[in-house]
Amino acid sequence: MRIIESFLKSNRCYQKAEQNTRGGLMLHSVGCPQPSAQAFVGSWNNAEKAACVHAFIDANTGDIYQTLPWEYRGWHCGSGAKGSGNDTHIGVEMCEPSCIKYTGGATFTCSNIPAAQEAVRRTYESAVQLFAELCKKFRLDPLADGVILSHEEGHRRGIASNHGDPVHLWNQLKMGYTMDGFRKAVKAAMGSATVPAASSGTRITGTAQATADQMRAYIKAKNPNVAQSVIDMIPLYLSEGAAEGIRGDIAFSQSCLETGNFTFKGSAVTLVIIAFKAYLPIFILTDKLAGVLVNLDLGCVAHICVTRFYDAYYQSAAACILYYLAGVPVCHAVSTAGARLHDKPMHAMRADSYVPHFYV
Ligand SMILES: [Zn+2]
Repeated sequence: MRIIESFLKSNRCYQKAEQNTRGGLMLHSVGCPQPSAQAFVGSWNNAEKAACVHAFIDANTGDIYQTLPWEYRGWHCGSGAKGSGNDTHIGVEMCEPSCIKYTGGATFTCSNIPAAQEAVRRTYESAVQLFAELCKKFRLDPLADGVILSHEEGHRRGIASNHGDPVHLWNQLKMGYTMDGFRKAVKAAMGSATVPAASSGTRITGTAQATADQMRAYIKAKNPNVAQSVIDMIPLYLSEGAAEGIRGDIAFSQSCLETGNFTFKGSAVTLVIIAFKAYLPIFILTDKLAGVLVNLDLGCVAHICVTRFYDAYYQSAAACILYYLAGVPVCHAVSTAGARLHDKPMHAMRADSYVPHFYV
């Protein structure tokens, strides 16, 4: 399986950089006789295009062209009576053979059935491999209800527009493929990798369950002398967490754990340093560090950012370093490719790149 990064940076969907919850994966087929993924990359990398997906699978080679970061909210399935799968599902398009010709709706004729079947087999098999990788990456159970859906199934569940893909293609070419079979093939392709049940553990992603009042009550009970600045920071955990799809209450409890409930006693941590390969991501949780006045707002945002980083399972070479120079935050955002892009405060960063680096 070859994944070729081809982000559609001119597409407004990419530029908006909203997040999906990574709750599932949706399989599509492009609905036109275009086998080349690069053709879609070329035509969709366009500010006028009102659609955007996470990847196209080339029907000539089986190569996967990743067109959005997996975490971004795509524009791949529209919506239905119960909302939009764009909020929850990563969307992947399989390209279609050049020897078919649509005659109306999802019906087509085919001038070379063996060649068409070969192309469809190629995209199916790559999709199985890709979905298996994504299920491992985002700890999804491919057989659980609603996790892997076709566009057609999404429509039937009320979260997608009225399309028949991709089973319309499989059925008319008599491939013998079904979505149930696809899900089982994904499960098999995951091999012996263990997928924790959805009920085990606590996910960092999602919506906070504790309220700001509950969080304040908790920290005051644990540390009656807690600084007012910490109390003031609590709503920021929730608002920044919500903006990033991270549970602010979990991020806050992590701060409590690592700072000895902000007593900085019984904890070695006043400055949290996480060594990650060659990087030394640093974030600062307190305004009391070695007499340096730290902007609490930025400290909180940095923490949310690092929490996102945990959730990405270290797949990216990204790390976060928030550096304060003379009390002034100076951040350099660096893409995962390592190119220096811009210098700006962290607040301005959110829309720019998914897991930004912050370099000294
Ligand atoms: Zn579709």
